[in-house]
Amino acid sequence: MVNVFRAMSDSEKSVLAAVSELASACWSCGEMRAAQFCKACGKVQPPRPVDYFTFFGLPRKLNLDVASLQRDFYELSRKLHPDLSARADRREQEWSLEQSSLLNDAYRTLKDPIQRTEYLLKLEGVELEEQSKSATDKARVTGEVKKQVVPAGLLEEVFELNMHLEELRAQKKLGDDDPALLEEIGKQKLAFEQKHEALLDELKGYWDEWDEAVENGSEEARRSARDKMVDLLNRRNYIRNLVRDMNASLEN
Ligand SMILES: [Zn+2]
Repeated sequence: MVNVFRAMSDSEKSVLAAVSELASACWSCGEMRAAQFCKACGKVQPPRPVDYFTFFGLPRKLNLDVASLQRDFYELSRKLHPDLSARADRREQEWSLEQSSLLNDAYRTLKDPIQRTEYLLKLEGVELEEQSKSATDKARVTGEVKKQVVPAGLLEEVFELNMHLEELRAQKKLGDDDPALLEEIGKQKLAFEQKHEALLDELKGYWDEWDEAVENGSEEARRSARDKMVDLLNRRNYIRNLVRDMNASLEN
């Protein structure tokens, strides 16, 4: 019987060790490098394909000290500045440029609570409905309306809202204007906006669950926290689209 998940042989292990040592050795002095610089000689290193957490030397956790991230960002920005005249080596200048752009992307993504969460989920192999670009493109080509499932907790409010918007459209066709209806829709919009806000606090609760699961190495707790975050972000995207559509209806 073939065991696919067999343990590595000693020779395979030594090859792997040599490869990772090479990847973590400085091009200039051969010492250990960090993600951006050599720890020994300080020279800029060619960028490695690492995720944004690793780029900043952070664990894959969601509670993050944004002030400290910002400090690291400014420090690295300064050190990686491509125009730094101290860099004689042409390659080093190019790597500075590449590393700087990686740094900017990593910082922008990690400092924002929602983007950080979405990015982490993507690393975990999750594709959020909103991020499913292929589905959106397909809908555009076929002219089908992209399926948006109303989240269970919102069915009643969404139903009521759609009735009001329907009414509004009918009135507009007749050239009527009903201030009471507009006020009612405005109130509903505010309620949805408040829900949208509140979801951020709920999300932070799941961050704690996630971080704890990462610390404990509990695969089950990890999956559970991940699924809760996915559900929440889908609900949040749904509400955001809803508010956008409401604004469009109110303006037209
Ligand atoms: Zn070095």
